[in-house]
Amino acid sequence: MSLDAPKTSKLLCAVLFFLLLISGREAAAQSEERGVALVIHGGAGTILPGNMTPDLEQEYQDKLTEALRAGYAVLERGGASLDAVITSIQILEASPLFNAGVGAVFTSEGTVELDASLMNGAGRQAGAVAGVAHVKSPIALARLVMEASPHVMMVGAGAEAFAREHGQEMVENEYFHTDRRRKQLEQIQQREQSGSNGDAHLLNVPGYSEPIEQKYGTVGAVALDRAGNLAAGTSTGGMTNKRFGRVGDAPIIGAGTYADNATCAVSATGHGEYYIRGVLAYDVAAMMRYAGLGLAQAANAVIHGTLTEMGGTGGLIALDREGHIAMPFNTAGMYRGYIDTAGNLVIKIYRD
Ligand code: ASP
Repeated sequence: MSLDAPKTSKLLCAVLFFLLLISGREAAAQSEERGVALVIHGGAGTILPGNMTPDLEQEYQDKLTEALRAGYAVLERGGASLDAVITSIQILEASPLFNAGVGAVFTSEGTVELDASLMNGAGRQAGAVAGVAHVKSPIALARLVMEASPHVMMVGAGAEAFAREHGQEMVENEYFHTDRRRKQLEQIQQREQSGSNGDAHLLNVPGYSEPIEQKYGTVGAVALDRAGNLAAGTSTGGMTNKRFGRVGDAPIIGAGTYADNATCAVSATGHGEYYIRGVLAYDVAAMMRYAGLGLAQAANAVIHGTLTEMGGTGGLIALDREGHIAMPFNTAGMYRGYIDTAGNLVIKIYRD
C-alpha cells in the first residue's frame, strides 16, 4: 500500500506535533524540578587550627551557616540568584569576622576602603565599586551601578555621590573599624619598620606568618536559581596595609568575580594582584568554554596551576548550571560552605 502525498504530510505533521508536545512537557518538568545551589566564602589564608580558639571557630561556623541559610531561602522560594548572592554577602559584610564591610582591613593610612562587584550570568550584566569609604553595603551599591546606571564600575567620590543620589545608607568610616584589624595593621607596620618584613603588605612573603589573623578575608557568593540563572558577587576591604587608592581584584570583573550561564559563576579571594594579572575568575570560565573542561578541573587548574605557578596565594568558589561545586585554594585554609542541589549544607575552614 502506498500513501499519497497529502496523507504523508498530514501523518508527518501529526508525528511532529506529538514529539514537540512530549519534549515540551519534559522541558517544563525539568525546569520545575531544577535544583538550586549556593556557595559562599569568607576568605582564604593562614587559617590554622592552632590560631583558632574553639569559640572563634564556632562563631565563624555560625555566621557562615546564617549567610548560607538566608541566601538559600531566597532561592528556595523561587528568588533570583542575584538576590541570593546579595543576601548572603550582606550578612557577611555586617559581621566583624570578615574582611568586608564592618571588620574590613585598614589601609596604610588607618582608613577603610572597600571594593565590591556583582555579575549576572543570564545577560552578563555587571556592576562594581572601588575605593568607597562611607557606603554601608558596597555589594548593594555594585548592584545599583549595574541596574541604575549605564556603567559597570564606579570609584571613590563619584561612586559615593551616586550612592547618595539613590538613597543608599551612608556611614562614617569608623563604622567599619574594629580593634582586631587595627592591631593587625600595627603589627604589620611594626614589622615593616623593623625591617623584618619590608614587603609585609604583600603578605605572601615566604616565612611570613601572621599569628593573629588569616591573611585574607574577602567574602563572596555564587548562586544557581530555579530558572537556571547563575550569579556571582564579591566584597572586600582589600589587603591590610594596602596603599590608599589601591584597588584589588574583587571589583574587577573577570579577575575576582565572573558569571556566565554558558559556563559558571566564580568569586575569588587571595592576593588580588595575581588575580588581576591572571584574569583568574574568567580563566575558569574560559577553560570550560574553550577547552571543554569540567568545573572542578577548570577551577583546580586555575588555583593549583596558574595561580600557584605565578607565585600567588588564594582560592575561589565556583558553581555551574548543573549545580557542580568547586572550592579550591592553595593556602592553609579558606572559610567556605555550600548548600547543594540536594539540600546538603556543608561548612569547611581548613584543608580536607
Ligand atoms: N582579593 C582581595 C584583594 O586583593 C583580598 C582578599 O581576598 O582578602 O583585595
